[in-house]
Amino acid sequence: MAGLDHESLELALDSIRDFAKQNLPPEVLLDHDARDEMPLEIVRAMCGPELGAQLLFLPEAYGGMGGGALDVYRTCETLARIDVGVATGLLATFLGSDPIRAGGTPEQKQRWLSRIADEGLLMAYGATEPEAGSDLAALRTTATPVEEDGRVVGYKLSGRKQWISNGGVAEVVTILANAPGGPSWFIVERDAPGFGHERPEDKHGIRLSNTAALTLDDVPVDADRLVGGVEGQGLSQAVAVFGYTRLMVAAFGLGAGWDALDRAIDYSRERVQAGAPLAEKPGYTHKLIVPHAARLEAARAVVEETAVALDALDEPEGHYIVEGAIAKYLASEAGCLAADAAIQAFGGYGYTREYLVEKIRRDVRITTIYEGTSEIMEMSVSRGRWQQHLKTRGQHYHDQARELEALEAEAPGCGGACAALALHALAVALERARTARLTRHQHVLLRLGEMICQAEGAAAFARRAGAAAAGRLPEKGDARFTPETLATLARVFNREAALAVAGGALRWLSGGDGVADAELPAFENELGLTAIHRSQAGLLTDMDRVAHALCADAGRETS
Ligand SMILES: Cc1cc2nc3c(=O)[nH]c(=O)nc-3n(C[C@H](O)[C@H](O)[C@H](O)COP(=O)(O)OP(=O)(O)OC[C@H]3O[C@@H](n4cnc5c(N)ncnc54)[C@H](O)[C@@H]3O)c2cc1C
Repeated sequence: MAGLDHESLELALDSIRDFAKQNLPPEVLLDHDARDEMPLEIVRAMCGPELGAQLLFLPEAYGGMGGGALDVYRTCETLARIDVGVATGLLATFLGSDPIRAGGTPEQKQRWLSRIADEGLLMAYGATEPEAGSDLAALRTTATPVEEDGRVVGYKLSGRKQWISNGGVAEVVTILANAPGGPSWFIVERDAPGFGHERPEDKHGIRLSNTAALTLDDVPVDADRLVGGVEGQGLSQAVAVFGYTRLMVAAFGLGAGWDALDRAIDYSRERVQAGAPLAEKPGYTHKLIVPHAARLEAARAVVEETAVALDALDEPEGHYIVEGAIAKYLASEAGCLAADAAIQAFGGYGYTREYLVEKIRRDVRITTIYEGTSEIMEMSVSRGRWQQHLKTRGQHYHDQARELEALEAEAPGCGGACAALALHALAVALERARTARLTRHQHVLLRLGEMICQAEGAAAFARRAGAAAAGRLPEKGDARFTPETLATLARVFNREAALAVAGGALRWLSGGDGVADAELPAFENELGLTAIHRSQAGLLTDMDRVAHALCADAGRETS
């Protein structure tokens, strides 16, 4: 398994938390947020000799600590609990160096990755353009070869990059540009002639990060700045790292979502209304706390499972890209909903800046936009899994459902039964979409993507609860909850997922005229609607248990 040992990881996370306590207390965060300013010196210090946070992300061969995907996710979650803007400043260096890590020549890796480790170099990742966002293939920035004696000795880069994190502060930027052989990454230093940046954007959130447009006007680079030394590899180098870069943004969703929710939980224990603390009012906890805890932990199940799978590979590049998309989608959407609920949970106080949930809500919003929007995640999940549905003649999710039924028999109450219902319903929905040719309708394709994320989230959550019951959770994973609470949370989420998948199937397949009136009862039967409705039994009792575990004074489970 790749990565740090458990003790080293926990030590590193503790150092990050201690550093933040000293350097980024709430008043500093609120002040920088109000002034819309990146705390540059603090971010530099985080990558300096005192803390060396960047080392966690870098291979040992280049002076880093060799963190694996699980270490990186835990680090990103810890950073996001501090501030998603500051976390973005670190992420940008990691993203900026990713094309080199995935596709650089040995000399490029040695030179640039070592400099990040030794000098704490800040980097930026220059992919997006004004006209090329989700559709990167539409990029217009050009790389024109400079030839001497018929040999390419360099390139001149021209164009514009938009929304670049660290754009105004990075010493080195990787730029995606169209060379004659196709899109390619180039390494550009800040002081290169013709290279500039614009004023930082005035953003809705992550105001402690620097985001700026970049301008390139015939910027000269030597041939050894072409990543990998071969033109046309840029898009595949970008896609190759999606498995773990999307996990990083997923971890931001988890960190920010839980930070907001924990603030709401603490508040609910102190705030007395109508004679009792809000924590004792199920109308409050079961709406504003419990479902969000369940959604965040379902997302975590996918994040951890994917991280463990990536860490088991010698070369993680190019793997688990769909799983990374599911993790990002679930965690970022759950993080936004949790932070929004936290504002509500604080009432009028939540609507002011002082209690931080308002800032967290603005900050976490970025996670459904950058590193691929939620709609792009839905599309890539749907397309990826559609191929599996076709290849297995519709059996892919039925097979998985049977595995979950077996798991439920082994670990009763782990949420496996509801996950199986969700997966069977999903298989039926996909097959109906195929026979009715409904995936041609983009909205149906994307809604299927959403349903796939919910069903796979439920499956991963049941596996996680089953593993917890058997004492087999990854040692370095999150250990906040007891196996009993984890199983209860899984049952809460998985009931919701089964209902959402069946509801989505009915809505979009009937809505797309894929189910004739006369066929409807049989279709509902195939979806397992009655079983899904029956499986809701016990929901309130489970929610009571989660509310007690989270909100009761003595019973709160903390990490
Ligand atoms: C604060 C911030 C920091 C960022 N940092 C970086 C960075 O460091 N480096 C970098 O390269 N980029 C960065 N980005 C850019 C970010 O990755 C893009 O904003 C994102 O990929 C979306 O691209 P876009 O803004 O052009 O929106 P568009 O792609 O135009 O999308 C607009 C809307 O249309 C939807 N949409 C797009 N295509 C389709 C489709 N085919 N079908 C259906 N719906 C579709 C999207 O989901 C979205 O809802 C950053 C952005 C922000 C706001």
